[in-house]
Amino acid sequence: MLNVWRPDYKFKFPISGTRNLKFQLAWLAEWEWLAYSKEEDGAYCLWCSLFPPSSGGRSRVGLGKLVHTKFSQWKNAKEEFRAHQNLQYHDDSRLKVAGFLSVACGKQDNVHMQLDTAQKRKVGFLKYSCVYITFPMDSFFPHRPKP
Ligand SMILES: [Zn+2]
Repeated sequence: MLNVWRPDYKFKFPISGTRNLKFQLAWLAEWEWLAYSKEEDGAYCLWCSLFPPSSGGRSRVGLGKLVHTKFSQWKNAKEEFRAHQNLQYHDDSRLKVAGFLSVACGKQDNVHMQLDTAQKRKVGFLKYSCVYITFPMDSFFPHRPKP
C-alpha cells in the first residue's frame, strides 16, 4: 500500500479516444486515493480496491469502475473522481485504510494486542511488515518496487 508505483513528470501517458485525451499527472496530487495503472492505462481508487465495499450504492460510475475495473473515460475524469470521493463506501474504505495503516505501522495496537499486552513483543513484526506490505495489487501495479 505504501509502495504503489506512481508515474512522475517524465512518464508519457498514452493518448486515447477520438478526442486525444490522456491521464493527467496532476490528478494524482489532487486525489490522494487515485492510482494509475500503466499496463491498463486506467485509473483506480486505491482505497476501495484494497477494501472494497460490499455494494455499489448509487454512483453513476458504478462499483466496477475505479474499484474492480479501470476508469479511463478521461473526458469526464474530474467529474467522476469528485463523485466517487463523495460516495459513502469510499469514505468507509478510507476509514478502513487509515485504521489498517495505524495498526500496521505500530501507531495503534490491534484489538487482540489491546486486550493482551503480553503480545506486544510481536509489534516488531507489524512494524516491519508495514514497510513491505503486499496486497493482491500486483494485477494492476506489477511494476511497483519490490522489497
Ligand atoms: Zn474509493
